[in-house]
Amino acid sequence: MAEKTLNPFEIAQQQIKTACDKLGAEPAVYEILKHPLRTLEVHLPVKMDDGSIKTFKGFRAQHNDAVGPTKGGVRFHTEVSRDEVKALSTWMTFKCGVIGLPYGGGKGGIIVDPNDLSKGELERLSRAYAKSMAFFIGDKKDIPAPDVNTNGQIMSWMVDEISGIRGYNEPGVFTGKPVEFGGSLARTEATGYGVAIMAKKAADKIGLDTKGATIAIQGFGNVGSYAGLYIEEMGAKVIAVSDSSCCIVNEEGLDIKALIEYTKENKHVNGFPGATKELDRNEVLVMDVDMLFPCALENQITSKNVDDIKAKIVCEGANGPTTPEADRALFEKGIVLVPDILANAGGVTVSYFEWVQNLMNYYWSFEEVQEKQTALMYKSFEEIWQLKEEHGVEMRTAGYMMSIKRIATAMKLRGWY
Ligand code: NAD
Repeated sequence: MAEKTLNPFEIAQQQIKTACDKLGAEPAVYEILKHPLRTLEVHLPVKMDDGSIKTFKGFRAQHNDAVGPTKGGVRFHTEVSRDEVKALSTWMTFKCGVIGLPYGGGKGGIIVDPNDLSKGELERLSRAYAKSMAFFIGDKKDIPAPDVNTNGQIMSWMVDEISGIRGYNEPGVFTGKPVEFGGSLARTEATGYGVAIMAKKAADKIGLDTKGATIAIQGFGNVGSYAGLYIEEMGAKVIAVSDSSCCIVNEEGLDIKALIEYTKENKHVNGFPGATKELDRNEVLVMDVDMLFPCALENQITSKNVDDIKAKIVCEGANGPTTPEADRALFEKGIVLVPDILANAGGVTVSYFEWVQNLMNYYWSFEEVQEKQTALMYKSFEEIWQLKEEHGVEMRTAGYMMSIKRIATAMKLRGWY
């Protein structure tokens, strides 16, 4: 049977529905959660370098603010749409809920290819977006962050714009800022570090020793490289790594530090001298390893390749790398899947710490941040594992159930249903 391709918003809604049904939640809970509470559409006139005015369309969706302000990235991409922003804000609610952060989900974006803009045009567009959102966002309201094609510099311009409008400094209105301008130490490493420690927890649960365990990693960008570095530090052997160029293999273990240095210079993993062979990039998914970390793109583990997956644990660094059909198949095969909403939540967790530090105006050391991240993520892992055992569901559904329980309780107490 052909696999039905759902758009991200439909997938998000399906996952909420499954979890609500499993929890036996009142119908009102799904009714409220199936759509974002608010979505703002803006048109941003920007003066271009040639003196002309060009108008860009932007969005911001706030999915649910029952437990606290909304939070989530802003992306600059030609594919940005109202539906995409709505779907991503929905996912953010559940990601924050899984960890128990005092946030609901938000997401925003502008329809633009930033490569078409000069630096000055990019700054004016970023400031125009922040200005148009000034009444909608805030450090106690909705806190955006970098996402696809946005970065610390863009966040800094936006903080400056908002602070100018407010008349005082408001660094906590955006996270993902450079460390020199109110960003948090250990944020760059946070997502990959989280993937590694969640994989370790899963290994402990099934009696697999991380020391000596074999790992394959799809994608060697920010998430994949740090996940590899930290799991290697725990004594595991990363035997296969892929990126868009190919899949490199060394059965004795690839030297991840050396590979990070190599990719800084050479952009891609192909040609790495520490590898013994190079395979097609998709081979990484079906390697004979103990753990697989998909850290590249969505829809990678599908009904087409799921039967060939040999790993005992799949720990999702990327967002949505497994299709719902493949999810079910992995569960039936007894493979433990640590879902994206937990496995890659290290990023939003340390963004939360950045915001806390901004509000306090007091900053923690790298070690303090990582310690706090570990404590929060371990606690969530245990809670979700327990829920999974109680209800006989996969960890993904258990994660959604955990989030929904938290949000539903807050909504009930507030009298929303
Ligand atoms: P990145 O751009 O730094 O790296 C992406 C990597 O994937 C690159 O090495 C690229 O070559 C590789 N890749 C692309 N196509 C591939 C293919 N077909 N096969 C194998 N590799 C391929 O991105 P990132 O920040 O590491 O993010 C990766 C994923 O993690 C995305 O899904 C992102 O949404 C998700 N994520 C990232 C963060 C974060 O903090 N960076 C947080 C949560 C989730």
